[in-house]
Amino acid sequence: MPKGILIYAQITRDNYVHRVFFELLDKAKELAQKLGGVDVNAVFFASPDSIEGLKEAFSNMGVNNVFYFEDKRLKEYSTEYYSKLLIDLVLDIDPEILLIGATNQGRDLAPRVSSALHTGLTADCIELDINEKGQLSATRPTFGGQLMATILCKKYPQMATVRPNVFKVKSIDDRVDTKFIKREVNLDEIKNHVDILEFKKTVEEIINDLDSADIIVAGGMGLKNKQGFELLKQFADKIGAAIGATRSAVEAGLAPHSVQIGQTGKTVHPNIYIACGISGAIQHTVGMEGSAHIVAINNDACAQIFEIADTGIVGDVFEILPALIESYSCEK
Ligand SMILES: Cc1cc2nc3c(=O)[nH]c(=O)nc-3n(C[C@H](O)[C@H](O)[C@H](O)COP(=O)(O)OP(=O)(O)OC[C@H]3O[C@@H](n4cnc5c(N)ncnc54)[C@H](O)[C@@H]3O)c2cc1C
Repeated sequence: MPKGILIYAQITRDNYVHRVFFELLDKAKELAQKLGGVDVNAVFFASPDSIEGLKEAFSNMGVNNVFYFEDKRLKEYSTEYYSKLLIDLVLDIDPEILLIGATNQGRDLAPRVSSALHTGLTADCIELDINEKGQLSATRPTFGGQLMATILCKKYPQMATVRPNVFKVKSIDDRVDTKFIKREVNLDEIKNHVDILEFKKTVEEIINDLDSADIIVAGGMGLKNKQGFELLKQFADKIGAAIGATRSAVEAGLAPHSVQIGQTGKTVHPNIYIACGISGAIQHTVGMEGSAHIVAINNDACAQIFEIADTGIVGDVFEILPALIESYSCEK
């Protein structure tokens, strides 16, 4: 019988453990308790010069065993190296659950690993639990967000990915005697077809870090055109907010996909979310309803977005946004 929960810890390009790992860790601890107190383990890949710093990040976090692979060729993510090494580890330690953050990297890695292991993968889950039979029940939206499906996996490891910001980090200090286990790496035996020559961040990524934004100003089709989004941007600049958008706005070419919020975009929970000209379709709200305070501006008093808004402004965005920009300028 496979044992324990294994979480893939993505290491960022600036050598931090990606936040989604800690979000998964808290959830994994809950699941481990329900499974009778099984181990919660982690695995990461890094270059030798960053290993010591990374070990500190895993200390006092309640992780039982941290498996790591070190090689300078593992500094950058490689589908082929990472997946082969992770598959070998899983075959060796036989976890009953394998959790991966649904980052761009996780979305690349998880399906490869699950197909090689001939097991199931439930992607983009919004809830994880253990059922009465001790199986992982992974819940995710389906049929365009109209239904929630709870999916069981018949094989081991039971795999799931979860997007960043879906679970909140609760505990910080959790002292257990964490063991660090270095794994053998022989990359020469693995075929690698891709060489990464350069990384380029888009301008939007640099100025618009949705994941860590305190305030997000999001635009929908009510903004109508590029000028509408320009107005949104001016407002965002005034109040120091990041910009988000609905899928319809992205599809209309008003904003890049990297800022799409919702079921097929990002999940965010800033302190303040200001929805401008957004109807409030469920596929959008699943990505932002965890925000601490939601403000909605919409000229239709019956718009669905008002059902989840803490503050609602019924009116025309083309009148309200300039007024807000103006009033903010006066205060300054
Ligand atoms: C499988 C699937 C996945 C999807 N994934 C996503 C997703 O990840 N994210 C997402 O956002 N959507 C997603 N969608 C699309 C979603 O269903 C909605 O169609 C979309 O969110 C609507 O975007 P919107 O609110 O910008 O546009 P609309 O629904 O057209 O709403 C525009 C709103 O603006 C208001 N308005 C118009 N003029 C003004 C004005 N002058 N002032 C103020 N208000 C005004 C209107 O009253 C209306 O409420 C998905 C759909 C499917 C089927």
